[in-house]
Amino acid sequence: MRLSRFSIGTGDRFGLEGEAQIAAFKELRAHGGEADIVWNKSNREHVIIGSSPADQANAAAASVTNTGWDGKWFVDADHISLKTIDWFLPHCNFFTIDVAETIGRQASAGARAAYLAQAQFLLEKGAAPVPVTQGDIETVADKFLAAVQEAGNTYRYIAARKPKDSFVVELSMDETDAPQTPAQVAAILVAVAAEKIPLSTFAPRFPGKFLKGIDYVGDVAEFLSAFEAETKIVLWAADRLGLPKGFKLSVHTGSDKFKLYKGIHEIVTRLGAGVHLKTAGTTWLEEIVGLAEADGEGLALAKRVYAAAYARIDELTAPYANVVEIDRARLPRPDEVAAWDSKTFVNALRHEPGSQTMQPDMRQLMHVGFKIAAEMGEEYTDALVEYRESVARNVQSNLYARHLLPIILG
Ligand SMILES: [Zn+2]
Repeated sequence: MRLSRFSIGTGDRFGLEGEAQIAAFKELRAHGGEADIVWNKSNREHVIIGSSPADQANAAAASVTNTGWDGKWFVDADHISLKTIDWFLPHCNFFTIDVAETIGRQASAGARAAYLAQAQFLLEKGAAPVPVTQGDIETVADKFLAAVQEAGNTYRYIAARKPKDSFVVELSMDETDAPQTPAQVAAILVAVAAEKIPLSTFAPRFPGKFLKGIDYVGDVAEFLSAFEAETKIVLWAADRLGLPKGFKLSVHTGSDKFKLYKGIHEIVTRLGAGVHLKTAGTTWLEEIVGLAEADGEGLALAKRVYAAAYARIDELTAPYANVVEIDRARLPRPDEVAAWDSKTFVNALRHEPGSQTMQPDMRQLMHVGFKIAAEMGEEYTDALVEYRESVARNVQSNLYARHLLPIILG
């Protein structure tokens, strides 16, 4: 089982947007593009919402059946480890192995020595697409080798329980304190190849900040330089290290990073490479935009979600401390928001590239505020059904026009 050149992680927190998301992929196809749909949901998201991997897989399958989608689609156990994997196993065919907890742990002396010997060839001039030093190899041995071994254990655990070739594997190292350098990525992939993990994608931590629901924060040129070097490295790894053909980079918290898409498109086109981009939470925000745009009861519900999120900001942001940066002084007060009309609310929350009205603090708070909607239960999901036209229109156009189009078609 293989991922296509382009694959997009789409989240569907409440399991009701699959058809609108597929409509975006059909729109892409009508314009000459193609991408796999990967419905990803992490353990954390399932626990917060009260859903299960079985629910997620059923919602995806129903959407595919109802729309007659004949493209490739996957259900992703996102950011799993050996501790959380079991309930995902029967329902997923994409596993994002997260080894953040093991990064920095020491491998055994024997494993370290074996790795150092294996990686020596990287020191020869021209062995890898970027120069690699003994220091790079030792950093990887000290910081990432045990994590790659843990990924190997996790992969073998999955492989022992799933039919051969029935799933794809991603390795994520994006939730770390510092970006890996391209040379470190090359040296990490040597360890991955030694563990015989048939990776389809690898998610490094890139330079800059990838915050939930807002644009990239950082030096775009620096990001693109790392993205290009690491794209060359994954192509090299498929060719020289025996990683699967089509092996590619994965960009996490990838929604709304409008400043980067043109450059990503240009690089993967020029190098003939692919990319996987995770955009999970952006769909939930479009549900709220759609409700607000519907006005009346829909707008009233969107305002209530915001007011409750405002009151519970500490609790909601705690699990996402590394990926949201909210300036509380800039959050509109719920009593102000209560007086907003539909257009004002929509303009504050909707994220068009370069929008002058979007409020990034409010948007990030709403991004992590899906727990409030989950607690509303059927009141929330009934509203999504009631205001289906407005919600679906926003979900589809956000996914197609702001994400699929610039990344895949340019
Ligand atoms: Zn991630």
